[in-house]
Amino acid sequence: MKLFDLKGRVALVTGGNGGIGLGMAAGLAQAGAAIAVVGRSKTKGEAAARQLASHGVECAFIAADVAREAGCRAMVHDTVARFGRLDIVVNNAGTNIRKRPEAYDAAEWHHVIDTNLSSAFHACQAAYPELCKTGGGKIINIGSMTSIFGLAFATAYAASKGGIMQLSKSLATAWAKDNIQVNAVLPGWIDTDLTRNARTQVEGLHDRVVARTPAGRWGCPRGPRRHRGVPRQRGLDFVTGTAIPIDGGYSAQG
Ligand code: NDP
Repeated sequence: MKLFDLKGRVALVTGGNGGIGLGMAAGLAQAGAAIAVVGRSKTKGEAAARQLASHGVECAFIAADVAREAGCRAMVHDTVARFGRLDIVVNNAGTNIRKRPEAYDAAEWHHVIDTNLSSAFHACQAAYPELCKTGGGKIINIGSMTSIFGLAFATAYAASKGGIMQLSKSLATAWAKDNIQVNAVLPGWIDTDLTRNARTQVEGLHDRVVARTPAGRWGCPRGPRRHRGVPRQRGLDFVTGTAIPIDGGYSAQG
């Protein structure tokens, strides 16, 4: 496991104070990374930092609104000031406004795009010199199934998540020379606060997701403890049917 040892590394996880972000932060902490948990809610953020510290690593909550460029720059600055370096950036914070495209106003459109897509660009740009200082690093941007297909009730969200995929490919090709690897992760339907709201707003969503998903269930940020009565502890049980190029960026570059 030395290959995956993150002792001495520092990871910044936006939205690391809940849902998928907290699950990913826990995985990074278990591997030994110190964690900067970024979010807006101090209560949730400090609770998450305490929970993550139980893995024996340094953790701190860093308050920032990633929908603002200044917030992204400040969170990178504050992370380096607190931990002395930056090695891993997880751009996970996200939001959604569910309505038909004809009903969006411009402010709603910009709020979703700024929170989900522009945030990742600003964070990556701010992090770039810090990652270069440590000889390289990893950037993980969180997309969605809507990076691939559309949803009638999530136009801005789908546009932002499609953008996340292309942003990741462009940064990967630009910064490979700096030993910075940039990838996007596209979660399916995962049971979090975000989708709990979706299930109340979109009738029949829960059952449609279960019916369409071969695994026959929603994903869970830290893996389900039991599924159909069988204990499940492994982290990759919800990854199936994918083809992941391991190619140094060959297939990402045009
Ligand atoms: P949650 O709503 O559970 O968590 C989102 C987190 O992002 C919150 O902890 C929130 O913290 C933080 N956040 C939101 N807006 C901002 C902001 N402007 N500045 C700083 N932090 C912010 O969502 P999920 O865990 O479900 O989603 C995480 C990511 O995964 C998102 O990008 C989402 O689009 C994506 N995703 C989720 C899927 C799912 O099924 N759940 C499927 C596919 C993708 P705070 O309130 O403190 O700001």
